[in-house]
Amino acid sequence: MLYCIRDEFKLKKLIKVEEVRKMIYMDHSATSPVDPEVFEAMKPYFIEFFGNASTLYSLGRESRMAMESAREQVASLIGAEKKEIIFTSGGTESDNIAIKGIAYKHKNKGNHIITSDIEHPAVDETCKYLEKNGFEVTYLPVYEDGIVRVKDLEDAITDKTILITIMHANNEIGTIQPIAEIGSIAREKKIYFHTDAVQTVGKISVNVNELNVDLLSLSSHKLYGPKGVGALYVKKGIRLEPIMHGGGHERSIRPGTENVAGIVGLGMACSIAQENLEKDAQKLINLRDRLIAGVLNGIDDSYLNGHRTKRLPNNANFRFTGIEGESLILHLDSKGIASSTGSACSSTKLEPSHVLTAIGLEEVEAHGSLRISLGHENTEKEIDYTITAIKEVVSKLREMSPLWCSSKT
Ligand code: PLP
Repeated sequence: MLYCIRDEFKLKKLIKVEEVRKMIYMDHSATSPVDPEVFEAMKPYFIEFFGNASTLYSLGRESRMAMESAREQVASLIGAEKKEIIFTSGGTESDNIAIKGIAYKHKNKGNHIITSDIEHPAVDETCKYLEKNGFEVTYLPVYEDGIVRVKDLEDAITDKTILITIMHANNEIGTIQPIAEIGSIAREKKIYFHTDAVQTVGKISVNVNELNVDLLSLSSHKLYGPKGVGALYVKKGIRLEPIMHGGGHERSIRPGTENVAGIVGLGMACSIAQENLEKDAQKLINLRDRLIAGVLNGIDDSYLNGHRTKRLPNNANFRFTGIEGESLILHLDSKGIASSTGSACSSTKLEPSHVLTAIGLEEVEAHGSLRISLGHENTEKEIDYTITAIKEVVSKLREMSPLWCSSKT
């Protein structure tokens, strides 16, 4: 019986392993493959050293030790202290724990939260939930370049503001926010400051002290670690109301038996990222700029969404007049290229991306976007193939597009 279920499971695969290997993967902002070194580091913690990290015997202590050295690796990548790292199940959970944790713990001091118009749903929906529960939220605009203005932030602060939560870099258009500046204002006004750094950790230098943040979320699967694990940096001395209740794991901020293998993987991914950060970032910038130049110079009526340079080294987000994003993605898929429109979270929704409308795009323009997010395994040859593929697909789709034809007659 068990065998039948396994066989059925095998049949359900949509794509063969050999095809995956041949594929040009350009959707690293959605997720990244696990680095083989990370996988090797994790393996012993599934079958051999499987002990519960809260137990006293040597098998459990082994898990605890592995977890603590992973905590050190995470802390080191972001310039934090080991005790300031809380392991979670990923970026979404880190964001929820940080935002609700501050809101509920400090509601006696005020009920006002400031965020931006382009946050990931993990922050945006959490703020909307709090709005339904007695909090007031100000959503800062980001203008055409996708960047918040410090002046707008200063104007939004009231004596009821207890929390500012602004993402470090956007997951769709890659724009990087002036986090250090925002942080110093927050510090001066004694307002807690959280940043969602899921897209930046492992890609650009992230140092919690230089950024003046009190809380910072990160996620393992965006930096070549496994899915389902992440961390929250909580500056020492900051108190959070737990959103989950259970055992005393992770200082009771995130109770539940720890995902030791996942945490070991996250730690190793952080260590590798730290070692290669500068080299990888430069390589990615070169590839990104080659792609941007190739697309914008080679295709009429093509545009880059978001700021030209204040963006993630691995992100290019385009729009093409007269083109529908979903068709573009599917045609590129048939040419062996994995890319996306909007973000992974909104790619199955029909509404236009809230990020693209926030930078002032019309609904029809927002539907025509293409996000390419690169990884260190991508090559110049792949970039050149992708530029050619995009040109071919855009031209083919435009021939069939009533939108394009009517704009040209
Ligand atoms: N925040 C940002 C900016 C993200 O890009 C993502 C994932 O796409 C998340 C949060 C959620 O992270 P996770 O998938 O680990 O829950």
